[in-house]
Amino acid sequence: SEAASQGSKYRVHDPRRLEDATFRQSLLSQLDLALANGEIWVAYQPKLDLRGKRIIGAEALIRWSHPDRGMVPPDQFIPVAEQSNRIAGLTMFVLEHAIRDMRRLDTFDPEFSIAVNLSVRMLGEPNLADEIAALLAKHALPPHRLVLEITENEEIDPNGMHLKTLYALRALGLHLSIDDYGTKFSTLDYIRQLPASEIKIDQRFIGNVHQDRNAWIMARSTVELAHSLGLKVVAEGVELPETLAALTEMDCDVAQGYLISRPVRFPDLERFISATKMRRVA
Ligand code: C2E
Ligand code: MG
Ligand code: MG
Ligand code: MG
Repeated sequence: SEAASQGSKYRVHDPRRLEDATFRQSLLSQLDLALANGEIWVAYQPKLDLRGKRIIGAEALIRWSHPDRGMVPPDQFIPVAEQSNRIAGLTMFVLEHAIRDMRRLDTFDPEFSIAVNLSVRMLGEPNLADEIAALLAKHALPPHRLVLEITENEEIDPNGMHLKTLYALRALGLHLSIDDYGTKFSTLDYIRQLPASEIKIDQRFIGNVHQDRNAWIMARSTVELAHSLGLKVVAEGVELPETLAALTEMDCDVAQGYLISRPVRFPDLERFISATKMRRVA
């Protein structure tokens, strides 16, 4: 049809799309080598408990230090990896490093918890729960110290494999967290259906809670709703002391953000934990 031929003509002549496709293809073709060459590593961002004012855990965030491009942000290469079969390898890499590193923090805090991001795409892997169980056993890590943050570039299928995998993971005794709560697919339906024990309110709803009345009301009602359902609440993207104070006042459980610490390499996390172990942080 005319519409279809116009459509394909448009695709061919749109230089941005062509660049996008080339860019993605080149990232994809370099990912395997990047893993083998040690360009991929894991950064950790501490999580602050707002009642005890203590660091109680950290989130593992994947990093790619590319020799020519510099730091490639995960928002660029994770979607590319998800659309190929590369996401499984990257996920297991992050899990292995995070679990191994976390065991080294036992001397400071035997209950320190670590959060790893898990793409919805991974929930389609029939062996995921078994593989994670094997990793936990290998490193002798109590499952309740691992949190999987479900991050979504695609929707969870509530009737199929995805939900089955989530229940299998939950049955291992680890915790599931709904990342970027309030955005994309991660809305009310998710906290109703998923066996999660935590939500992370997306940073776009956090930054102005101390100065915008509606933002404050939305965040506080979300905290109340979550608590009523027995869920813990983490606020991400906390950059200002005023924001932290507002979150504490509305009874939010945990905060994460540049105010507390940027994501750092493991030795810096270790120093941060040992330095803050004996005193209140904020
Ligand atoms: P996310 O899981 O929601 O992580 C939060 C992002 O916000 C991180 O970006 C973090 O560095 C950034 N951030 C933390 N505190 C602040 C703050 O105070 N202000 C601002 N402006 N930003 C802050 P990052 O590391 O670039 O990661 C982006 C996304 O990539 C993550 O969002 C997550 O969805 C995904 N991702 C990262 N690592 C992995 C991974 O190992 N596996 C999967 N599947 N996805 C990952
Ligand atoms: Mg996350
Ligand atoms: Mg998030
Ligand atoms: Mg995100």
